[in-house]
Amino acid sequence: MNDDNSRALYDRALSVMPGGVNSAVRAAIEPYPFFVQKGDRGHVIDADGNRYIDWVMGLGPLLLGHNLPESVQAGIQQNASEGPMYGTPTEIEVDLAEFVVRHVPSVEKIRFVNSGTEATTSAVRLARGYTGRNKIIVNQGGYHGAQDSTLVEGDVESVAPSSAGVPQSVAEHTIPVPFNDEDAVREAFEKHGDDIAAVMTEPILANYGIVDPDDGYHDFLREITDEHGSLLIFDEVITGFRVGGLGCAQSEFGVTPDLTTFGKVIGGGFPVGALGGRAEIMEQLAPSGPVFQAGTFSGHPVTMAAGLETLQFAAANNVYDHVNTLGDQLRSGLADIVADQAPEYTVAGTDSMFKVIFTRDGEAPKNAADVKNAETDRWRRVFWGQMKAQEVFLSQNQFECQFVSYGHTEADVEETLEAYKHAL
Ligand code: PMP
Repeated sequence: MNDDNSRALYDRALSVMPGGVNSAVRAAIEPYPFFVQKGDRGHVIDADGNRYIDWVMGLGPLLLGHNLPESVQAGIQQNASEGPMYGTPTEIEVDLAEFVVRHVPSVEKIRFVNSGTEATTSAVRLARGYTGRNKIIVNQGGYHGAQDSTLVEGDVESVAPSSAGVPQSVAEHTIPVPFNDEDAVREAFEKHGDDIAAVMTEPILANYGIVDPDDGYHDFLREITDEHGSLLIFDEVITGFRVGGLGCAQSEFGVTPDLTTFGKVIGGGFPVGALGGRAEIMEQLAPSGPVFQAGTFSGHPVTMAAGLETLQFAAANNVYDHVNTLGDQLRSGLADIVADQAPEYTVAGTDSMFKVIFTRDGEAPKNAADVKNAETDRWRRVFWGQMKAQEVFLSQNQFECQFVSYGHTEADVEETLEAYKHAL
């Protein structure tokens, strides 16, 4: 496969950008990432003209694939050419807010921001401001963006920043617990109950393999947070408007969080984040309340149009049926291949998310440690070597999940399964 142009671009990028990229995970493909020239439905074409079946889909935002329907394109273009932004409100922000409030019952009010990171940062500040408490419980291996409160590792006993530059004194306010471990959450509340502002969790651990919650785990989190006057925050940056359709993952699990963070799909492929929840809590945000939050680009008309038109298109067409059916086909095809060729591996995912995890015992992981204990090094060989060579673009490491879009076809699924068969 010729990749001279990607290589030359990476050389240039290394001279002017740290690690040659604008987001850390992009450099994970060694010796260098391919540079994309353009997308085409469920495919991307790189700077050397190689075409890949793309299961990364921008790391989640592109529910509709690379070719946006006309209504989405028209919304984007109209708002880009007439503005593009004003520093004073526009109707399209209200339209998207109303759409979300209509479809996600836990969201009575919403604020749009510019990234998932900004959404979780603001949600944590809001939870602290609302409760007057300092600590948050998160999951080991959960990812809530590049923000100081959650770049933390450890357990109920001791914590440390997981990145240079995060003060230990900030990390001290965060308590990481294993996903699906009710005892660890109980212990954290026993020790710090009066000072726990919130439990923040991804409904499905989607940045560390893919790990499903045990039956009743989220009900348990709902009960224990209620008991202690803490908030339950669902980080639906990945699952929002992907798992459980327009009701999001919380509708699938029948649990009502106090706050939800969104990102990715809700912006239709443009930079976005949002936090929403109970009106009484959301009203604590400035200017109606004392918790400061603001952003020059927040509620950007182009993003709002892309998000609204994307969700309206999904509501009016068989988007979720399409992506979930292909997701089922991928997962069941992969399960057959794995059973035949590598029974120690596990196929994970739901709806339009999927991942093969290189477990050692064929047991579905229960938490991040189980995924970490998998043969994660195989990723490099099997996927960068084998799958990329067969022109299938999978996520950059063992931990990031993969996404089906409306642009994908059954032929994409079949070709991908053939490639997996060969690779495994
Ligand atoms: N929360 C979750 C669950 C995420 O998956 C991500 C990004 N993958 C974020 C927050 C951060 O979002 P962003 O990269 O848009 O800042």
